Amino acid sequence: MKGVLIVLSGPSGVGKGTVCQALLNKQPGLKLSVSVTTRPPRTGEVEGVSYYFVSKKKFFELLAQDKLLEWAHTYDFFYGTPCEAVEHVLNQGEDLILEIDVQGGMQVKQRFSSAITIFLYPPSMEELLHRLKKRASDSPEDIQKRQHWAAKEMQMSTQYDYVVVNDLVENAVSKIQAILTAEKCRRMSKAQ
Ligand code: 5GP
Repeated sequence: MKGVLIVLSGPSGVGKGTVCQALLNKQPGLKLSVSVTTRPPRTGEVEGVSYYFVSKKKFFELLAQDKLLEWAHTYDFFYGTPCEAVEHVLNQGEDLILEIDVQGGMQVKQRFSSAITIFLYPPSMEELLHRLKKRASDSPEDIQKRQHWAAKEMQMSTQYDYVVVNDLVENAVSKIQAILTAEKCRRMSKAQ
């Protein structure tokens, strides 16, 4: 059976990265898609692990060559998912998680109707703002932009298959694992 494609979205600061990392550690056979971005690296980010950091010119070349499954323009930067790795991982029967924004999430659902979409919700807006401010690598201007966009993104959660509240990372991870298990069982019944 082909692997399951999971889209994980949620506002900036909700903890998508932390939840993804904890999930990858607990879920055998799950891979993380590495996106391309025109954003400069933050301290500690590693080329090819966090992102592929590319110029705007390179990003638009990839787009013109139809090498991006989806893409988005947020916070003055471009982000996209390379197609090649997606096909490769799923065809090998492994599951793949895309940690992407809502614009991209909707594009993936259109192209891959079998993808499961999960929206990660903060326990409260106050907690989200607190988490955004704690991320010292972003400027106050950036934080404000992200806060503004977060409210819009949250409205898009109704378009997602599932909402998971990230109150505690372990809880969020268990819920995503449960969703993945249910999806695999559902697909097995269809494959009989
Ligand atoms: P950050 O700059 O904080 O790493 O990411 C900003 C936003 O871009 C986050 O919501 C993140 O999920 C999203 N993002 C990262 N990679 C991609 C991608 O390949 N496609 C889309 N559509 N969004 C992405």
